[in-house]
Amino acid sequence: MNRIGFGEDIHRLVEGRPLILGGIEIPFGKGLLGHSDGDALLHAIADALLGALALGDIGAHFPPSDPRTEGIDSKKILAHCGEIVRKQGYEIVNIDANVVTEQPKLRPYVDAIRESVAATLGIEPSRVSVKAKTNEGLGPVGEGHAIRCNAVALLSGGE
Ligand code: MG
Repeated sequence: MNRIGFGEDIHRLVEGRPLILGGIEIPFGKGLLGHSDGDALLHAIADALLGALALGDIGAHFPPSDPRTEGIDSKKILAHCGEIVRKQGYEIVNIDANVVTEQPKLRPYVDAIRESVAATLGIEPSRVSVKAKTNEGLGPVGEGHAIRCNAVALLSGGE
């Protein structure tokens, strides 16, 4: 059986935080605000994995109200969701994700991000696609106030 999931996330870009996307730090003057490290890409992918199994969202599994998750490395969140996928008897066929931001330009980092996501999930980088898009200057993302990410994941296995 195949199951597909979709995830989306947006975090504000603010001064004074490192920019963590896809589990790697990207040199930039601002970073993503969040209860965790703010890694909107890993959150979108984790939500796609949970969504494929109809298991809710990462807010249910990692409540923002839980002080134990404050500043958490989002790779831990994604790895946990990957573990859930395996325990349910599924494997990840592939993931396709978009990162929408005007700045910084992410193309030079895309392969490092793909490798980071793949390593966190224990899958081949060829199963992970990450695309860098802009919002054509429109809205809060286009004006540089936030970065939005979305992702789909296809799982295979189960009964
Ligand atoms: Mg988030």
